[in-house]
Amino acid sequence: MSNHRMKIAIQKSGRLSDDSLQLLERCGIQFARSKDKLFWFGRNLPVDLLLVRDDDIPRLLLDGVCDLGICGENVTRECLLDRSAANTALTAEVALDFGACRLALAIPEQHAFSGIQDLSGKRIATSYPGLTGEYLQQHAVQASIVELSGSVEIAPSMGTADAIVDLVSTGTTLRANHLREVAEVLISQAVLYSGTRTLDAELNRFKARLIQRIQGVLKAKESKYVMLHAPKDSVQRIADILPAAEAPTVLSLDGQPDKVAIHTLCRENVFWEHLEELQAAGATAVLVLPVEKMLA
Ligand code: ATP
Ligand code: ZN
Repeated sequence: MSNHRMKIAIQKSGRLSDDSLQLLERCGIQFARSKDKLFWFGRNLPVDLLLVRDDDIPRLLLDGVCDLGICGENVTRECLLDRSAANTALTAEVALDFGACRLALAIPEQHAFSGIQDLSGKRIATSYPGLTGEYLQQHAVQASIVELSGSVEIAPSMGTADAIVDLVSTGTTLRANHLREVAEVLISQAVLYSGTRTLDAELNRFKARLIQRIQGVLKAKESKYVMLHAPKDSVQRIADILPAAEAPTVLSLDGQPDKVAIHTLCRENVFWEHLEELQAAGATAVLVLPVEKMLA
């Protein structure tokens, strides 16, 4: 691996892998894929991709082994708390809008709960001792933390803890273990972080370009291009219905003096409700197209 290439770490196999890889590929990076290798070589751009466990990504960034990494805020913040004595930090470049989950505090469903202070003197099982400790401290609660590396949700029924702090997305696992969520410790999503290695000017420029492309991919994902026909006098009404619309292009229609064609970019998603409102405003031939790429 050369020093003149950007090293990007993503999760090798797990919940963040597909979205992370897809995002980089949508930025135009083509990788020479190799099923069992740790490194993938960027064929058309100066990028080396490292495929690793998500838990290793913050450390690889802190140690300057990687220059960019995609990791959940949950894992990253936990790692930074672990290293807090060394006064370390990582720069969050872009929140990526996938990998959404929350770190929740849950107790056995039959137990009463009047507030966090109920946990005073209790045992809390978690794989996130740093974030749990920080949360308890913020609420001035003294409780003991039982650190477990997995199967945290069975700790209360095993009698090894009175409550848990664990990752939740739908809550099905909690319900299956007769637990109920009583507080939210952290809301998390996948984030692109910068590492600590000093880059030369050329790589720095490339990094800025890549981040701009990533922002463009995210914006394009929620944007839509809308084309429709409408009565000439309802252009303003139509523009008001369309969500986060740019100034519309208004074109005349051959042989239809009372009608115009309207084309516009909407920076938010267009839903069926919007289309029904457009129809009520006299719009016909409404087309909603996905946006493939977008700059600014
Ligand atoms: P690895 O082998 O890479 O360590 P893992 O088992 O730790 O894998 P995954 O279960 O793939 O990791 O989760 C990776 C990240 O995905 C989590 O740290 C979190 O940021 C995010 N995530 C999103 N939804 C959930 C969920 N329902 N449960 C757990 N993690 C989730
Ligand atoms: Zn992990």
